[in-house]
Amino acid sequence: MKVLVINCGSSSLKYQLIDSDTEAVIAKGLCERITIDGRLTHQTMGKEKYTVDAAMPDHNVAVKYVLDALLDKETGAIESLDEIDAVGHRIVHGGEKFAESTVISDEVMSAIEECNDLAPLHNPANLIGIRACQAHMPGVPMVAVFDTAFHQTMPDRAYTYAIPYEYYEKYKIRRYGFHGTSHSFVSKRLAELIGKDIKDTKMIVCHLGNGSSITAVDGGKSVDTTMGLTPLAGLPMGTRSGDIDPAIIEFIAGKEGKSIEEITNILNKKSGVSGLSGVSSDFRDLDAGMKDGNDRCRLALDVFCYSVKKYIGAYAAAMGGLDAIAFTAGIGENNPYVRKMSTADLGFMGIDIDEAKNEIRGEETKISTDSSKVQVWVVPTNEELAIARETVELVSK
Ligand code: AMP
Repeated sequence: MKVLVINCGSSSLKYQLIDSDTEAVIAKGLCERITIDGRLTHQTMGKEKYTVDAAMPDHNVAVKYVLDALLDKETGAIESLDEIDAVGHRIVHGGEKFAESTVISDEVMSAIEECNDLAPLHNPANLIGIRACQAHMPGVPMVAVFDTAFHQTMPDRAYTYAIPYEYYEKYKIRRYGFHGTSHSFVSKRLAELIGKDIKDTKMIVCHLGNGSSITAVDGGKSVDTTMGLTPLAGLPMGTRSGDIDPAIIEFIAGKEGKSIEEITNILNKKSGVSGLSGVSSDFRDLDAGMKDGNDRCRLALDVFCYSVKKYIGAYAAAMGGLDAIAFTAGIGENNPYVRKMSTADLGFMGIDIDEAKNEIRGEETKISTDSSKVQVWVVPTNEELAIARETVELVSK
């Protein structure tokens, strides 16, 4: 089957056409600056990558450009839209309504819309993407794959905030967690790699990218995760603060004369390692800055790695044991320094990193020593492939 995977943001649309039999990417690309002006970058594998500026006043037009790019006689990948057997959509927030992926129907669309409150920037864009695909590919089965679904197995003690319970009852304020597709994909692969039945395995998945989250996976199920009601919680990230004392918000508001909205924006866009270092949100720049003696780059890296390490300890305690750790996403896959510092001095927990093996970048590799009780692996994530797999499974039923 050929599956088109769509990841729609408010002004962007990423796509991959995947052959589900071979799991190979046939073509991929990105529409940017939708509603502003518009730019398409497309590559059919084995052919030249190209970028064109094209007016994209809305997502409907962007989807039309994507399909035209796929159909192009010279640079495209298919001869007819009939070759697209299914479309898998990444949806950010499924609230408590979706504990798994689902075939999209009118009822499902309404239920996703009801979750808009929980992800006001993302879910409406996801819905626009679905509607645009439905308009151009009527009759093609579509599947919604939720970032939050994998975490719906968390016990109430892990997802409940200690605030008046009525806010959970009235507004469903609780921990949801994100990056679920990645945590699910990587934990399944990690169990295969260590040769254990996932049902008997306790794992910690560290998804460290521009957005970062860590999940405790016990018996194949998410039992705790660092992100919360929104992706702002947990680890410090590229530009997000992660966990802070909530009283800081009122304090800054008073001192700087800012509104809650302005401070939330600062916590999302101007904080994290970017705000700390004053240099960059990109860990490559922080590495370079630290090597040049920039102490705030050193501090940003230290704060990040210390936070990762604390969650590893916390989640081992939460699960009452630990068999394996996976590092994934841009930083987890490519940054030996972060992996080393996040696991330093954890020998007492049976975690020992092999410094030479840890130099690996972007490849599936065991980076713990042979005597390490807990196996530590780099496991590249592939959210698009995970979405394609889910899509095929659901439309083949
Ligand atoms: P992501 O959001 O998963 O794309 O991750 C972005 C982060 O990963 C950035 O901070 C980068 O520094 C880091 N990253 C991505 N690719 C590489 C690479 N090839 N080498 C080093 N760091 C990388």
